[in-house]
Amino acid sequence: MAVAIDNIVKNGGQCVVEAGTGTGKTFAYLVPALVNNNKVVISTGSKALQEQLFHRDLPSLLKALKKGRKTALLKGRANYLCTYRLNQHVAHVPTDDSDVMHQLAMVAKFATETQSGDLADCVGIEEDAKVLPYVSSTADNCLGKECPDFAECYVRKARLKAMEADLVVINHHLFFADMAVKDSGFAELMPTADTYIFDEAHQVNEIASDYFGETISTKQLQDLVNDIRVIYLSDIPDMLQLGKTLNKLTTSIADLRLVFGGDGARGDWREALQDKVICEALHRVISNLDFLYKVLKLCLDRTEKIEHPFERVLAFKGQLERAFDVTQTGYSYWFETTRRFVTIHITPLDVSRRFQELVTKTEAGFVFTSATLSVDNSLTHFNSSLGLKPEFHKIVDSPFDYKKQALLCLPRYLPETKDELMPHSLVKIAKSVIKAAQGRTFLLFTSYRVMHLVYEGISTATEYPVFMQGQSSKRIILEQFVRHGNAVLLGTASFWEGVDVRGDALSCVVIDKLPFTSPDDPLLQAKMKDAEISGKEPFEDIQLPQAVIALKQGVGRLIRDRSDKGVLIICDNRLVTRKYGETFIKSLPDMTRTRDLDKALNFLENIDTHET
Ligand code: SF4
Repeated sequence: MAVAIDNIVKNGGQCVVEAGTGTGKTFAYLVPALVNNNKVVISTGSKALQEQLFHRDLPSLLKALKKGRKTALLKGRANYLCTYRLNQHVAHVPTDDSDVMHQLAMVAKFATETQSGDLADCVGIEEDAKVLPYVSSTADNCLGKECPDFAECYVRKARLKAMEADLVVINHHLFFADMAVKDSGFAELMPTADTYIFDEAHQVNEIASDYFGETISTKQLQDLVNDIRVIYLSDIPDMLQLGKTLNKLTTSIADLRLVFGGDGARGDWREALQDKVICEALHRVISNLDFLYKVLKLCLDRTEKIEHPFERVLAFKGQLERAFDVTQTGYSYWFETTRRFVTIHITPLDVSRRFQELVTKTEAGFVFTSATLSVDNSLTHFNSSLGLKPEFHKIVDSPFDYKKQALLCLPRYLPETKDELMPHSLVKIAKSVIKAAQGRTFLLFTSYRVMHLVYEGISTATEYPVFMQGQSSKRIILEQFVRHGNAVLLGTASFWEGVDVRGDALSCVVIDKLPFTSPDDPLLQAKMKDAEISGKEPFEDIQLPQAVIALKQGVGRLIRDRSDKGVLIICDNRLVTRKYGETFIKSLPDMTRTRDLDKALNFLENIDTHET
């Protein structure tokens, strides 16, 4: 793998490698990236891996190689303190939310101490802290060269550092956000490189789809309203008409959200537009936005601060009007809701052509790697999804002895996954494995509903600490899980990957169901329809590969080291009753298998935690 990547770094081209857990894949790409003199950008799927590469792996390799290469860590602009916005919001606190006020004071203190402006270093401010939109910038609201703080701007400084570095560590979101910005001709953050290396490359397709498409979110619109309100209060408080217009727009944004019903919903936007109530609510937002545009025009000669938001209002109005045009083919039009906002997505169904163009245009070398790229021992699905024609592709198996280290149990006598008795069976299985493993269990779910039901069933019935996703941030929950050493953790999608718990704290992973995307998912439906039209097999070419990769990710949480031992329990009969079950099994590491839950319990009881 290292030799192949060395060749790409030297001569360009494309290389795709699936490298199982424990193969040393990180060093296999970092060494060629460091020993050659070309400029390399490494992109990771998660911020956690980005930090680990930059703060742990790179320094130790540079030391071992006795190399003096310049390295830089570059995150998306939302990760850096924006002093301009911080000062604006400290002077005119934008809300009476006590959390925001408290966090604003913490960030203001951090601003006096930080060198890098990286908000991850601000103690007490979590990734989802409410204050973040008020103290960081977006491509929309950043004033760029017009900004009075431009010379000292942290985003600018981070970018300058990245320009000078030989090796820059970024993440996929930044890569694609940057490409999207470059497409529209604005200044970009990321420097160009001779080689791009994508780790956790199984996420590239989905992230590329998000950025190659368009999203229109009422949250962005509300943020814009909040920004204008700060300028109104600080610079032109006598423009009462502006205050009233902002209030009216805020109400219509909230009303638009209400017509979509409960949160966490996803639906077909084309169908939603057939609903008169939704259309009327959307028209009200557009007409209020139109009125805001006219009022802002009158304010332009009062303060130059209004110029930038004025442009944004115009751009947003255009975006909202485009949301009515659902005629483009090759795109899925869908929406999703959160508690307060609704987002409309226009997502391309196939990014392969666009991604291939991007790869060709940059004339750089490209490396794609991950522990989970193949389906049924083939990389064809991954390569075709991104339009890749790699000179080198390979599957490097994990060096772990899965036959000895792990046991895969597919319990007998389970109800069908949709059966209403299924949560009851899951609780029963969970209780017995938690007892046998003395806590130390991950329970991974495909639905929040079932996760909550199982939590209710086990949380008071076990002596071990039980944590559930949503009780705190992912980082804090994982820290607590590891610290206790005998805890139980229940999580959905975000816990299926990027979680690395080695050793004693984790001995058992229970998966409630094969992770097929819900057939009601509008994006999946559109992709399957598109596959059918182009003569493909919708299930085999779209739904199955997605689910196999997701399952491999979930399974990958169990054995992270040569000395780890554990049991994987998949509570889904379809693995043995359906033909496609074989594809899943063949795609998993080669573990000893059983259908007897007692054998799994026995295996767990006999794991010597001092030995692992
Ligand atoms: S240039 Fe942009 S990011 Fe930097 S301080 Fe100014 S507004 Fe904030």
